[in-house]
Amino acid sequence: MDLGIKGKRALVCASSKGLGRGCAEALAEAGCDLVINARGVEALEATAQHIRDTYGVSVEAVACDVTTEKGRAQLIEVAGQVDILVNNAGGPPPGVWTDWERDDFIAALDANMLTPIALIKALVPGMMERGWGRVVNITSRSVKSPLNVLGLSNSARAGLTGYVAGTSRQVADKGVVMNNLLPGSHATDRIAALDNRASQQGGMSVEEARAQRQSANPTKRDGTAEEFGHVCAFMCSQYVGFMIGQNVLLDGGEFNSTL
Ligand code: NAP
Repeated sequence: MDLGIKGKRALVCASSKGLGRGCAEALAEAGCDLVINARGVEALEATAQHIRDTYGVSVEAVACDVTTEKGRAQLIEVAGQVDILVNNAGGPPPGVWTDWERDDFIAALDANMLTPIALIKALVPGMMERGWGRVVNITSRSVKSPLNVLGLSNSARAGLTGYVAGTSRQVADKGVVMNNLLPGSHATDRIAALDNRASQQGGMSVEEARAQRQSANPTKRDGTAEEFGHVCAFMCSQYVGFMIGQNVLLDGGEFNSTL
């Protein structure tokens, strides 16, 4: 399917691995030139080279921490007149509700709420002036249904969701489409780390922890970064001009509801 975005310029944050990489690859497949990012240089350069070789698009790799002001300044400078922004960063650490102090909340808010907001504020005005833009924020299913061990994620991402709900409706008339994409369980390093923790806490093997988690999903499996990336690319396509401020849940049907 031609998504109608060949030649557009996309910044995909936190994208050397996992869901961010899935989004970067799907946008490259649609013909977008990319700015990709992660803290670790080695995996970032390898991903950039793979995408150049596979899809023939231009890829600039910026090694920095997107959750810091300095890192964001680097990204904004390289991104320039970007048409598409995919906001992403690592998720907060797991724990229990009594663990988290003010500093833990501030770190989670910085990474998963204030970082995407800062990038939206820096890059969306240019999209509005040019009359076309797409923003996809990678959040979490925890926005719809809280995950007990991820209270920091439940909290910070709910804040971003509220901001996007209001902001998306104020930029839509200038051709900027802003939505959130909510991953359920996808096979990445992040979910492997959470399975490890569950195995230690539940006195079972990692395989048992994974099987237990997957058995609760209607598909009986995890999603893939490729599936996630293609939904993200569609949400950046020419076809979503009337889709504003939505929260698209990609969880294999695990959240049980009629609507
Ligand atoms: P992942 O497999 O751990 O990949 C994270 C990617 O982001 C890596 O490329 C990592 O590279 C980069 N990164 C992490 N922190 C960064 C930072 N501060 N600055 C720049 N790059 C950074 O994680 P994932 O599973 O793709 O998850 C992506 C997001 O979706 C996370 O916020 C996660 O909590 C959320 N999520 C994931 C799932 C799931 O099932 N996978 C479910 C719900 C929500 P470096 O480490 O080299 O920086």
